[in-house]
Amino acid sequence: MNQKGGVGKTTTTVNLAAALALEGRRVLVIDLDPQSHASLHLGVEPQGLQTSIYDLLLDPDGDATAAIHSINENLAVIPSETDLAAAESELATVEDRHRRLGRVLDRVGHAFDLVLIDCPPSLGILTLNALAASDEVLIPMQAHFLALQGVGKLMETVSLVAGGLNPRLRVAGVVLCMHDAAATLSQEVVADIEAYFEQAKEQAVPWSGARVFRPPVRRNIKLAECPSFGKSIFDYAPTASGAADYRALAKAMLAGPVPTAADVVVVERAVTEVR
Ligand code: ADP
Ligand code: MG
Repeated sequence: MNQKGGVGKTTTTVNLAAALALEGRRVLVIDLDPQSHASLHLGVEPQGLQTSIYDLLLDPDGDATAAIHSINENLAVIPSETDLAAAESELATVEDRHRRLGRVLDRVGHAFDLVLIDCPPSLGILTLNALAASDEVLIPMQAHFLALQGVGKLMETVSLVAGGLNPRLRVAGVVLCMHDAAATLSQEVVADIEAYFEQAKEQAVPWSGARVFRPPVRRNIKLAECPSFGKSIFDYAPTASGAADYRALAKAMLAGPVPTAADVVVVERAVTEVR
């Protein structure tokens, strides 16, 4: 999630999901944006869908399997349609309005190892449904001026949800999109975000384990081209830098956090105690 538009949410959801599928994980993408960009990026036309995420949010006990479109052996999507924009007001008076997506996932989630939810650029009922149903928040962003301010605002939202709707919610970290590692500004912004997360390490906040994921995703025109072909970068341009970056990111995420010197000390102490 990121309440800002155009930062790389959809590009990251789709291509990271495709990369995780290539790593052998069974991955479900949920398109929670009425603009249907993730659905289109994966080659699913939102017009004339029999069942979309909209139908499931209004009727979480409806036929969920009809909404799941298989993309390849390991990758599937529950698409969205423009009607989804109306869900914000249609659900406004429903008592369990924030838990609708969670109820859907309770029914379909078991068939997948990972579920990636592409959020709209706002903090309304749809995004709150995503936060209420998730274990982790991933923040795609561009390292430029005022980026840290945006991160602060996102953490406030996550805190609110973690303090009520979903106590298990954690911030996994930031994915740097359209990144220019050579720019001094990017380097400064990344350092600021890392300092912000570092400071949170000892605190009881949902982002105490957050990190800036490596590698950053470089700016790559192929990543901007592939949505109009309804293909992930791996089907459209498998040798492009965008494919290499999302593949490496997926591998890094599956490998878990890189241990720091402090982690090593903790592990050594634990081993000594056991002995
Ligand atoms: P969001 O979902 O946050 O609105 P998108 O993922 O749709 O953002 O990205 C915004 C635009 O930037 C899209 O046109 C997308 O194709 C393009 N884009 C995203 N990541 C990259 C990248 N690494 N290099 C070049 N273009 C990118
Ligand atoms: Mg988007």
